[in-house]
Amino acid sequence: MNPVDISRHLAQTADRCVRCGLCLPHCPTYREARQEAESPRGRIALIQGWAEGELDASPRLLLHLDNCLECLACERACPTLVPFGDLMDKARAATWRSAPAWRRISRAAWLGALASRAGATLAVGLGRLYRSSGLARLTTWGGIHRWPSLAALHRLAIQCERLPRLPASPPARPAPGDRFGLFLGCIARAAQPGAIEASLRVMRGLGLTIRVPADQTCCGALHRHNGLPEGADQRLRRNAKAFAGLTAVGLASACVAELRGHPPLGATQDLCRLLADRDWPATVRLAPLPQAVAVHVPCSQRNRLGDEDAAFALLRRIPGISLVPLPDNAFCCGAAGTYLLQRPVLSRALLAPKIASLAALRTSILVTTNTGCALHLAAGAREAGLEVEVLHPVELIDRQMRS
Ligand code: SF4
Ligand code: SF4
Repeated sequence: MNPVDISRHLAQTADRCVRCGLCLPHCPTYREARQEAESPRGRIALIQGWAEGELDASPRLLLHLDNCLECLACERACPTLVPFGDLMDKARAATWRSAPAWRRISRAAWLGALASRAGATLAVGLGRLYRSSGLARLTTWGGIHRWPSLAALHRLAIQCERLPRLPASPPARPAPGDRFGLFLGCIARAAQPGAIEASLRVMRGLGLTIRVPADQTCCGALHRHNGLPEGADQRLRRNAKAFAGLTAVGLASACVAELRGHPPLGATQDLCRLLADRDWPATVRLAPLPQAVAVHVPCSQRNRLGDEDAAFALLRRIPGISLVPLPDNAFCCGAAGTYLLQRPVLSRALLAPKIASLAALRTSILVTTNTGCALHLAAGAREAGLEVEVLHPVELIDRQMRS
């Protein structure tokens, strides 16, 4: 589409909003700021004003768009079905096209690095080194960690340290008749190798043949939600080739949602739902777990996949378990892809009530189905001094299967 067609499309989509305001109470940024421009309705009006040429893409306008988490709580609440996520993605892409070339190039470069296997591994490794070398303590002591440029790095370091650091297993050997292919994701591969190993063990334990296609890459969601759809589409095409002839299975809900948006990968399965709905061999037994486990439901699981019960359905297979939804699950935890790095202050403000709820529950295990949320929640729990393990549901299944 040329720029005129894009503007017309944005204006027409925005025009579907009848300004009823029913989405406002569901919007986390509106709940924080209490400003119209930080609400879905306000953002739609800004996009419409820009698309119709009445407003410039001023830094202030762009800030209100960038503050959106794309959690899609508003889309779910909207009676006229305004496709808010698609509208925001397209608006970000359109406004970014007119950004200075150096900004586009630098954004593409750091997103590309984060989305690559080597880049994600390096980022996680540096984060851990920053902690283990004592540098993190030094910057905290001096208050330097609050400097805007260091704040995001400081949090990334805390986030990376908290999750299990198991060595990644070697890729599965291809076998004839394979049907499923495990989608690893860029950050999960570096930060949650334990969840990947557990997925492989559990699937094989249930008699499923699972491969790990070598040529897979990031799902592209980081690029799409940062205004670079070409980078996202390129990654989806590469994944479609890597998973040809297989049904992709993802353990991170945001990745599954992004992959499903690309027709050749439309049948991508959410690991929790797949395992929950299958008939299990009678020989597979799970050890009882007579304790409460808190369940966080990521926005991508709830609002993009439309399946907030998947983790509950899977974990209910564990005898004696007591599943407790994390209060306020309908509100975003503030992770939202790269949001936790780009908007550390707002991201932490959104996390605070989650951690307070977690502390009140007094559980020692919290499960969540999205990697970014796991990192973010684990960092919050650590900072609050809570002794809480943050796991993917499949890690708990694997643990009880092996007990
Ligand atoms: S996507 Fe989430 S943060 Fe963005 S406007 Fe909608 S409810 Fe608010
Ligand atoms: S609920 Fe839908 S129609 Fe109503 S203000 Fe929000 S986006 Fe617009």
